[in-house]
Amino acid sequence: MARAKELTPKVLVVGGGPGGYVAAIRAGQLGLETVLVEKAVLGGACLNRGCIPSKALIHAAGSYAQMRDRFEAPHMGLSLSSAPKLDFAETIAWKDGVVAKLNGGVAALLKRAKVQVVTGAAQFTDAKTCQVETGEGPVQISAEAVILATGSTPVELACLPFGGDVLSSTEALALTEVPKHLVVVGGGYIGLELGMAFCKLGAQVTVVEAGPRILPQYDAELTEPVRRSLIRQGIALHLGAKATGRGADGALLILDTDGSEHSLAADKILVTVGRRPVTEGFGLETMGVAMAGPFIAVDSALRTSMRGVYAIGDVTGEPMLAHRASAQGEVAAEIIAGLKRRFEPIAMPAVCFTDPEIVSVGLSPTEAEAQGHPVLVGQFPFAASGRALSMDATEGFVRLTARRDDHRLLGAQAVGAHVSELSATFVTALEMGAVLEDLASMIFAHPTLSEGFHEAALKALGHAIHI
Ligand code: FAD
Ligand code: NAD
Repeated sequence: MARAKELTPKVLVVGGGPGGYVAAIRAGQLGLETVLVEKAVLGGACLNRGCIPSKALIHAAGSYAQMRDRFEAPHMGLSLSSAPKLDFAETIAWKDGVVAKLNGGVAALLKRAKVQVVTGAAQFTDAKTCQVETGEGPVQISAEAVILATGSTPVELACLPFGGDVLSSTEALALTEVPKHLVVVGGGYIGLELGMAFCKLGAQVTVVEAGPRILPQYDAELTEPVRRSLIRQGIALHLGAKATGRGADGALLILDTDGSEHSLAADKILVTVGRRPVTEGFGLETMGVAMAGPFIAVDSALRTSMRGVYAIGDVTGEPMLAHRASAQGEVAAEIIAGLKRRFEPIAMPAVCFTDPEIVSVGLSPTEAEAQGHPVLVGQFPFAASGRALSMDATEGFVRLTARRDDHRLLGAQAVGAHVSELSATFVTALEMGAVLEDLASMIFAHPTLSEGFHEAALKALGHAIHI
């Protein structure tokens, strides 16, 4: 057996997703000798089979649907004399090109930060030592500090194991033909983002959700415009329904809340019922770290229970979001470098890229009240926004919640076209401790959707101008 090459960096990062690669770059920037081990492709789930490819597909699907709408129904003086053509294999190739460009970017950034990338699966033998079988032979790495960023994988249903025409999001993002009948099991983030995209691309889509409503992470007022949009787009919705298996003809069998059984025609079934942390298969059990349920337990310094071992990203729990993983990565690297940092965000934005989009930062009115705060709520409908009207997208609203006594902002949400871009304004206001009077006295550019934030603050203070 070949003798293992030995590396003894200060920092070993395991996993090259948005958590791990950001941690490695930051550690490198701080002058720490850093090795990053990635068993697959740099960029992790987010870049290769998550955030980026899904948003590329959603964008292409939206463009195609707009063209088809103008062919079917001229509007704004726009029409098409023949139906637009979709070369879906070409769309997927374009999406793959976007991913490849970003993969190359991540590799270049790591190189610039002088991070050594080792390609292969890390297998730990103790808390600070791992072995990696690389294309060039075995490598043994012993580090002073270890950052675990092994991410998450899709949850599988026992009655619908992945394979064949039962897809996880990974396979759905690699299809080269639009399915005729797509049944989506799970009406959460991925199911609705991808379900809506495939509907726009021409698939007949059915969503089966076990809960009483879609997108349970968000309050019902925010998700209602998305529910209406699903129905308008012709997506069939089965709420309170559970998948039980498949019929002989390949159809999906579901059990409704009233106990009735249905069979749904499906040539592809997309199962999106959540993701689970990757904690097995790399020797975690030899590292002596404590768990918090299925996740690796960490404190606000991202320390595990084992000295010198840190964990970040999806493997540490909810919310499983790329920007949370990256923010944790920066904090972990800075703490290892001796800086005084903590991961204690006030504002963790969440965006759902459905049509319309949803953005939420901080508390909803109901959550704020449940925490014992008497609140003021201001809501501004996009139907009264010049920008929304000029974009022909008036559905939705901006809503904010503030403490009744001192007017301190507690949360901001919006639903509507392009509202993902409001997340920065909402985060900034919350992190900087804005009060309603701050927002009311600031000048927001006209015409923009962000004016809705200003108007919502005026509304909460009782003197809205445009409603
Ligand atoms: P991951 O990105 O999962 O990366 C972990 C990496 O570790 C992987 O590359 C894996 O190969 C590697 N690894 C694991 N074990 C080992 C080992 N033993 N040795 C070496 N390498 C190892 N989040 C958002 O914020 N916005 C979105 O719009 C969004 N859209 C999404 C869409 C989809 C379809 C999916 C599936 C997810 C989406 N997410 C989104 C979630 C986001 O992808 C994750 O939160 C994020 O990728 C987590 O980053 P991470 O670094 O913790 O883990
Ligand atoms: P999810 O948690 O968002 O939604 C899963 C849905 O499946 C829930 O509504 C749940 O009630 C339902 N469900 C569970 N078991 C079921 C069953 N047996 N039958 C029918 N429905 C069932 O999970 P996801 O959509 O798989 O996404 C995973 C995670 O990835 C998200 O929680 C999020 O953290 C991340 N993500 C984020 C974004 C974004 O930020 N825009 C996009 C995609 C994914």
